[in-house]
Amino acid sequence: MRILVFNAGSSSLKFGFFDGDDHLFKGSFDRFREDGCDYAFVGPDCEPERGHAPHSDLAASIEAVPDVLAAHDLTQIDAVGHRFVHGGTEFTGPALIDEAMIARIEAQTPLAPLHNPAMLDAMRLARRVWPDLPQVAVFDTSFHLTNPARATTYAVPAEWRDAGLRRFGFHGTSHKYVAHRAAEALGQPLAALRMISVHLGNGASACAVQYGASVDTSMGMTPLEGLVMGTRSGDIDPGAFGFLQRQLGLDIPQIEQALYSESGLKALTGSSDMRDVEKRAAEGDAEAQLAINLYAYRARKYIGAYAAAMGGVDAVVFTGGIGENSASMRRRICDGLEFLGLMLDEDRNRAPDLSDRAAPQLQAQGSRVAVIVTETAEQLMIARELRQLIGRAAAPPRPISIPIAVSGRHVHLSTATVEALFGPGYRLTEEAPLRQPGNWVARERITLEGPKGRLPHVAILGPLRDRTQIEVSRTDSFALGIDAPVRDSGQLENTPRVRLIGPHGEVESAGLIVAARHIHTNPADAAAMGLEDGELVDIEVHGAGGRGLVFGRTLVRVAPGAATEMHIDTDEANAAGIVGVAEGELAPQIRAVPR
Ligand code: ADP
Repeated sequence: MRILVFNAGSSSLKFGFFDGDDHLFKGSFDRFREDGCDYAFVGPDCEPERGHAPHSDLAASIEAVPDVLAAHDLTQIDAVGHRFVHGGTEFTGPALIDEAMIARIEAQTPLAPLHNPAMLDAMRLARRVWPDLPQVAVFDTSFHLTNPARATTYAVPAEWRDAGLRRFGFHGTSHKYVAHRAAEALGQPLAALRMISVHLGNGASACAVQYGASVDTSMGMTPLEGLVMGTRSGDIDPGAFGFLQRQLGLDIPQIEQALYSESGLKALTGSSDMRDVEKRAAEGDAEAQLAINLYAYRARKYIGAYAAAMGGVDAVVFTGGIGENSASMRRRICDGLEFLGLMLDEDRNRAPDLSDRAAPQLQAQGSRVAVIVTETAEQLMIARELRQLIGRAAAPPRPISIPIAVSGRHVHLSTATVEALFGPGYRLTEEAPLRQPGNWVARERITLEGPKGRLPHVAILGPLRDRTQIEVSRTDSFALGIDAPVRDSGQLENTPRVRLIGPHGEVESAGLIVAARHIHTNPADAAAMGLEDGELVDIEVHGAGGRGLVFGRTLVRVAPGAATEMHIDTDEANAAGIVGVAEGELAPQIRAVPR
C-alpha cells in the first residue's frame, strides 16, 4: 500500500511518501510568507533538493504535492494519513475520516487551538485533492490514554476538571514508535519491558512505557509542561501567573505566548538551537553552560521519577534531534543514574550509527538498564497505523460473539504458599472444573488482609503455579487499602504485598494485581475471528438496564486448547450491567494496537 502522510502546521507542511515501510520521499514547505516559502525534498535515488517555492500558504502547498511526487515518478497513491496533535479523550486510536469524523475532530479544537486548525485545514484540502482515497487521522494523544487517573488528574477544583482540564501528553506517535523499535532491538517483547522514552527535539517530552502501555508522560494539558524545550519553559510554578501580572502587568495571553515562544533554551541563551548552545558552552559562555545543565537535570529528574512510577526500568531510549545527535547531552543526562543500575559506555555513546533505522545499544557491560538511541519515525508510524486500520476495515466480517466470564476475587497459589496456609504436604481439593481446560476451583477458601481491611472467602484456582498471584477488583483494592496495579496475568514484577490467611498459618505475598481484561482463545477460533495473539480489541457489551459499554484495549491471548471466553472482573461486570450469562461483540470499529 502506497501512503502519503501529512504533518501540517500554521507555517509549514511536511509530507512523506511510503511504500510499505519504505520511506520513498520526504518533503517540506516551510516558512510561508507573501512571496512563497522554502522547500526541501529528498526523493528516491536523487540528491536532496532545497530552494524557494511560490506557495505562500498551506492550501497552495498541498495542491502542489501531486506534481512534486509525479516529478519523482511517484504517481499511485492508495491512502492519505494525517498527523493530529490533539484527539482529547475521544480518540484512542487512528480514525477513518468522513464528514462526521471531521466534526468530532473539530470539537477537540479548544484543546489545541494552536495546532489542530492547520491540521484540519490540511485534511479538508487533501479530501478535495484526493476525494476518492481513504484518509486517516492519527493523534499524538492516543498513546497516552492508557495513563492512569493518578497521572492524568490535576488537583484542581472539580469545575475545572469537568471543563476538560486534565493531563493528556503529546509526542505519542514518536514514543510508541521508539518503544517498539527499542524492544525489537533488544529482542524482547515490549509487553515484558519497562521503558522510558526521552524525545528531545524542539519540543521535548519523556514517557514511561510499562509493558507496552504509556503510564505517564511529561507533557500535560498542553505541550508546555515537563522538560525544558527550545522555546518552551517546561515545568513552572503556576503561581508565576499572579506574580507576573502583579509585578510586570502582563496579562494571560502575554504570559502564555512567552512560555510557548520566548522561553526554554531561547530565553536562557538567546538561541533555541542546541547546536548553538553547545558551541557557546564549549567556548566558556556561562549562560549556555547553565542552560545545558538545567536541560540535562530536568530530563534526569523525569527518568528517576518514571523509574519510581514503574518500580524499575529496563531501558532508556533517546530520540529527537538532540537525543539522536548530542552524545554529550545523553552523557550528561545519564551521569548520576548509576544508582538505577544504568551505566553508559562512552565509546558506544560517542558516535552511534543510526542509519537505516538502527537502534544501537549504548550501555556499558554490566549495566542493568539498556540505553538505546534511535531516530524517531512519526510519519512511518502514521503510515503503519493507517495500513492496519484500513486492512481491518477491508477484512471480511468476523464471527463476533464471545462468551463473557466474570471473575470474582481469587488467588493462584504456589506450593510454598499452600503449605504455609494449610500445612506441610497439604493438597488442595478440586471442587469444580472451570471452562478453561485443566483449570479448577478448590473447595478451600482463604482470607486476604491489608491495612484497611479483610476480604474473606477468597477462592483458590488450580493448578498450582510457580508464583502466587492474587487477583482483586479495583473496589477490593480500596477495601484492602493497597494500590493494586492493572496487570496481565503473570506480570508480577514489583507488585504490592498482601497478607494471606489460611487455617494453618499466614503469609505475606507479593503478586497483588487487578487483572487486565482479556480474551482466551485457541488458534482455530482466533483465525476464524481474524484475531492475533497479543492484539488489543474493543468488545461491546449490551448489559441489563441499558448499562452496556465498550471494553477498550482488551488483550487477546491465543493458546492451543483454550476455550474462547472473555474474562472481566466484578467491577467491570457491574459497570456494564452484566447479570448471569453474557456475550460481547467485537466492536465494528476495532482499534487494534500491536503490543
Ligand atoms: P522537531 O521537534 O522540530 O522535530 P528536531 O527533532 O529536529 O526538532 O530537533 C531539533 C533540535 O535538535 C535542535 O535543538 C537542534 O539544535 C538539535 N540538534 C540537531 N543536531 C544536533 C547535534 N548534532 N548536536 C546537538 N543538537 C542537535
